[in-house]
Amino acid sequence: MTSQTLPPAGPFPVSKTDAAWQDALTPKQYAVLRRHDTEYPGTSPLLQEHREGVFVCAGCGQELFVSETKFESGSGWPSFYDARAGSVATTEDRTLSMRRVEIHCSRCGGHLGHLFPDGPLPTGQRYCTNGAALTFKPLE
Ligand code: FE
Repeated sequence: MTSQTLPPAGPFPVSKTDAAWQDALTPKQYAVLRRHDTEYPGTSPLLQEHREGVFVCAGCGQELFVSETKFESGSGWPSFYDARAGSVATTEDRTLSMRRVEIHCSRCGGHLGHLFPDGPLPTGQRYCTNGAALTFKPLE
């Protein structure tokens, strides 16, 4: 499912060479964050994560989504109706013969997933993420 689309060019506050990203990330994290891959639906352990806490970027640690905004979308990908202010940026993605809104971490440019306007209230937005792009930090 790997596409040829690369992450947005930046510049971003956190920047590494491609080799350094490969060293820092697992192969699955690298494929999603740096190569725009999509994990197979239903495979992320974070689908079953229901504790209170925050989901941070697996690339740079920036806090992206708080647990209160997570919801069951039925898509097979961890889904949120909102992001922490300023933490998620967007680009237009025209791959796969669709026009979609790509979402990425504003700090490192790591690809997260896509944004769809069919989420629940109060925002009506669905941040459809790859769990491989996220690390969960439970509330202490
Ligand atoms: Fe990041």
